[in-house]
Amino acid sequence: MKFPGGDPPISSWSGALLGELRETVLSSLFPPRCPICDRVLSPGERICPSCIPCIRPMQRPLCLKCGRGIASEEAELCENCRRRRFSFDFGFILLEYSDEISESIARIKYHGRREYLSFYGELSAGLIGERLLSLSLDALVPVPLHRERLRRRGYNQAELLAERIGELLKLPVYPAALHRVRNTKALKNLNPEERARDMQRAIRPGRIPDSLRSVCLVDDIFTTGATIEACSSALREAGVAKIYSLCLAGRAER
Ligand SMILES: [Zn+2]
Ligand SMILES: [Zn+2]
Repeated sequence: MKFPGGDPPISSWSGALLGELRETVLSSLFPPRCPICDRVLSPGERICPSCIPCIRPMQRPLCLKCGRGIASEEAELCENCRRRRFSFDFGFILLEYSDEISESIARIKYHGRREYLSFYGELSAGLIGERLLSLSLDALVPVPLHRERLRRRGYNQAELLAERIGELLKLPVYPAALHRVRNTKALKNLNPEERARDMQRAIRPGRIPDSLRSVCLVDDIFTTGATIEACSSALREAGVAKIYSLCLAGRAER
């Protein structure tokens, strides 16, 4: 509805009331769902109790480079990190990959369940917030999506995750640091070397101010590390001194 002479001014109390009303309407239209099984939650729940065991934080010992669980402390690095050279300093992988986590992430990416990311952001801040803060980061940098994919999906899941973590830890989020210049498709059909080469060509540094010295990349899944590496080497090339990574899930070695 259009008011003659423009919209009426909204005072702060009625603004707050509208905000509350909006929340109520939204939660009745789109009731909060469990990020794991997608069932509608009871009031106050963030995840259904039976799904809590599906959230398995990555268990120590961890690979000193990528952060996945490894079989023994002595090894220091996982097999993947022994075979490759990565440009980032070290990374965190929050959760052990499982069918449930994989389905949850697929619903975020392909079925519009962006609201799960607020749960995962809170989980990330709760599990590794202190460690992230100890790194004196200048910003969180989400792994970019190509603009065509962004248009189709409507959001970049890595960016929304970074935003929630940034909000909770009071860290800036700086998506402009990287661009995805090519739409990489069907990476699954490529071997690891081809995949890495394809990713390297797809990611370019964006606007990187001199004050951006220490960043943490944010992404959903860590597999071979090709995406994180392409982002890291682009940032390194642009002069960023400290580069870390945080991925929501990855496969442990054992
Ligand atoms: Zn559930
Ligand atoms: Zn590793």
